[in-house]
Parts: sequence; structure tokens; C-alpha cells
Amino acid sequence: MNNQYPNTNLFIDGAWRIPDSGDSLEVLNPATEEVIGQVAKAGQADMDATLIAAQKGFETWSKTPALNRSRLMRKAADLIRERAHEIARIMVLEQGKPFFEASIETLLAADIFEWYAEEGRRAYGRVIPARSANVRQLSLREPVGVVAAFTPWNFPINQAVRKIAGAMAAGCSIIVKGPEETPASLAAIFTALNDAGVTSGVVNLLFGVPAEISSYLIAHPIVRKISFTGSTQVGKHLASLAGSHMKRITMELGGHAPALVFADADIQSAVSILAQNKFRNAGQVCVSPTRFLVQSDVYDTFLDQFVSATQQITVGNGLDPATKMGPLANDRRVSTMQQLILDSQEHGGKVAAGGDRIGQRGYFFTPTVVTDVPKHARVMNEEPFGPIAVVSRFDGIDEAIREANRLPYGLAAYAYTSSDRTAARLSSEIETGMLSINHHGLALPETPFGGVKDSGYGSEGGVEGLEAYLSTKFVTHAA
Ligand code: NAD
Repeated sequence: MNNQYPNTNLFIDGAWRIPDSGDSLEVLNPATEEVIGQVAKAGQADMDATLIAAQKGFETWSKTPALNRSRLMRKAADLIRERAHEIARIMVLEQGKPFFEASIETLLAADIFEWYAEEGRRAYGRVIPARSANVRQLSLREPVGVVAAFTPWNFPINQAVRKIAGAMAAGCSIIVKGPEETPASLAAIFTALNDAGVTSGVVNLLFGVPAEISSYLIAHPIVRKISFTGSTQVGKHLASLAGSHMKRITMELGGHAPALVFADADIQSAVSILAQNKFRNAGQVCVSPTRFLVQSDVYDTFLDQFVSATQQITVGNGLDPATKMGPLANDRRVSTMQQLILDSQEHGGKVAAGGDRIGQRGYFFTPTVVTDVPKHARVMNEEPFGPIAVVSRFDGIDEAIREANRLPYGLAAYAYTSSDRTAARLSSEIETGMLSINHHGLALPETPFGGVKDSGYGSEGGVEGLEAYLSTKFVTHAA
């Protein structure tokens, strides 16, 4: 596979443009730390041009029949599938994940567009029985308007596609402030949308200084809805900005997922699924299992097998077919891993696998397992967003549920048990937006994805993800 990487411009009103200032930012390859390209840096004039384009795009798109919108989205999905190999290659260069993961993400983007292409045709309203024979009461669903979306670097395409597809299906136009560290794979999605014939101004892509862009767009009267994926800290800040301008919001924020393994579980299967999902994307996943809570009777068995599975993971450049885990996406993540591991050790924690940076070049880190970490250590409270699993023991289900619910986060939780009774209790008592029992089944186009508590509110995916871009108008009409 070649190492060529394209520079990325801004996509405004159906065309790629260099920013008014001509400014750009560097893009690094996290496997080599080399500068591989540039991404355009938008200023206020570019944002103003985008807002005007998005308003115009909304006026046309919201009146375009759902069937026609659907056809264009399906066409884009076909183009993404045709180009998946090249898009995935670009993603590996900028983000680091293994090529097979980048391919899965790209193909899933096509599935998401296709699913929303259909669902947008079913954005039904209601007829509500009236109290008088001459009155007709209608509940109409209308697109909310121009959307501003802010998306991160861990899934460069799909964090954005879930927002773009939901907004387009509802009849909204969208301005995406994409991830500056991983811009080109997302840019390829915009090219596919444009090549499919999507109306100018419906989808727009900016990059720049995140805080400058978000404060300008959120406050702007043209923007009617905000959707953000990223850290809880930034999410709270953006939610308060949106609140002061009375804008609708969807917030998909951080997590610290508990994974409960009960003595009656199929341990081998739990080990294999959890190890695969812990280290997917080097743990830089908001639903990554982090607090492994294992029932005392099977603790030693689970730990032995999990450590062994962890040590078998091949770390390397994502373009190498042997690689199962790539580098971390940036140097901030490497230093966070080092600090969290050191802090765990200072609190009596033991490193059972990994724990170190690999080499001097590239942001490589060993898949890591720590044990005996007390609840007040940082890693038991802060989202590591990296390849660290913390394994602890519990005795009874009450203790496990208490620990699962201890943190302010509530995004994903996992459980392994053969007892229906245990599964039923966990389903009702774990404070989480998503619970996956005996398998890892999250983030499909047709299922809702989102959190509670400090992990945010609103859902992406499923019919809920379409709802996020629709408002309700009640019309009552006396003949
Ligand atoms: P960060 O908090 O600086 O940034 C997280 C994301 O928010 C980035 O995409 C960034 O561009 C964006 N952002 C930051 N400030 C913003 C602002 N004022 N307006 C709009 N967007 C803004 O952290 P980071 O070092 O890039 O990532 C580390 C943390 O972010 C992780 O620990 C994790 O908690 C969180 N994160 C979560 C997800 C997720 O999928 N939920 C994805 C990426 C990062």
C-alpha cells in the first residue's frame, strides 16, 4: 500500500475551497510522527460563507421529496463502498488504526447512509382524533434546520456520518467541524456525497481552531441544532453555550464502561470478546470496556486468560497486515497512559501486562492490564481513552451493580452471565445508555447509541437518531 496522503481543504457550498486566510495546520502520521499533509484552517469569512451556503442548502433540501433525498444518499453509499479500500488506507495514515478496522468503519459508513436513506422516508406524523367532528388535528414532523456538528478523531468517518446521515434524512443541512488530526478520510466522504449529486450547501465541512468555530457557529442565528461527540468536559461547555442560545443539542460524551463477569459465564468467550473490544482502536473508543469486574470464584481463571490474550496482541503500523493494534492517535494519549499507570502503581496497583511505551518513534503503547487498583486511583475514575484494562474482583451482584453505577458516567456497560435472572436485574439496575450482555453488540445503524448522566443525552442511530433532527408542529384545523 502506498503512503500518499492528500491535503484537505474546506467543503463549502458544493466545492472544495482554500480558506480566505490561506492558513493550514499540519497532519501527522501517528505511527511515524512525520508530517504527512496539511488541513485548511477556517476563519470567520469561511464560516460566514458556510452559514449562508447551509441556509440555502436547507431551503432546497427540506423541500426535496424524501424519496429523492433517499436516492442520493444511497448513491453516496454505493460510492463509499467502491472507494472503501482507498478511504481506509488514508484513515490508517492519519489515525493509526489497523487497516481492517479502518475498512470496517468505512463500510459501516455506507450502511449508515443506506439505513437513514430508508428511515427518512418514514418520518411519519400523526392524525390525532379531535373533540369535534369538523376539526382535524395533525402532528407534523419538520426538519429542525441548519445543524452544526463537532466530531473527533477516534472514528474520523463514523462519528461524523452518524450525524450527517440523520440530518440529511430528516431534511436538514449540516456544517461539520471535523477532526483536524484526521481530516482526509472524512473529506473523502464529502467527495462521495458531492459525486452522488447531493445539492450544494446541504453538507459542508470546516476545520480550524475548535473553540473559535464552535463559539461562532453555536451562537449564530442560522444554526438551529448542535451535535457534539467528544469529552465530557468540552461537552458541558458546548451544552452551556447552546443553552444560552436555546439551541437543541445531542451530546455523545465520555464513558468508563464496566464489564461484569459472573462466575456462571462462559469465561473463554468473555475473555475473547472483551480482549478484542478493549484493544480495538487502541482503546480510544467511548464505549471501550475499562473497569473489568470479575466475580471472585473465577477471578484468577479470567485474569490468567485475559492477560494471555492481551499479550498476544500484535502492535504495529496499521498498514502492516499482521497488526492487531496500531499506535495511539497522538502524544497526549501516550502521556495520559503513562500518568495513569504510574498513579495506579503509587496506589498499590500491579501491572499484569504491558504498561510501557514501545520504541521512540510513533505513539505505540503496549496493551495493558492492571490489577489491585483502589477505587480512588485516577484510572478508576477518569476515562483512560487508551489500551488499559483495570481488573478488580467482586463477590455478590449488589456489590457489582454498586461499582458499575459509582461513576458519573453512564454510556456503555457489559455483562457476561448465563443467568437470565442476573441479566434481568442488570438490565433494570445499571445506570447506562447501552448494555450489551454476552456479546458486543453496540453501534449498529439501526440501534440507538447514546448515554445518560455525564455521558450526555440524546441518541444517534436507530429511529432515535432521526428524531434528533426533527421538530414537531401541531396543526389544528376547523373546517
Ligand atoms: P479534547 O477534549 O481536547 O477534544 C475532544 C474533541 O473535542 C476533539 O475532537 C476536539 O477537536 C473537540 N473540541 C475540543 N474543544 C472544543 C471546543 N471548544 N469546541 C468544539 N470542539 C472542541 O481532548 P482530546 O485530547 O482530543 O481527546 C481526549 C479526550 O476526549 C478523551 O479522554 C475522551 O474522553 C474524549 N474523546 C471522546 C470521544 C468520543 O467518542 N466520545 C472521541 C474523542 C475524544
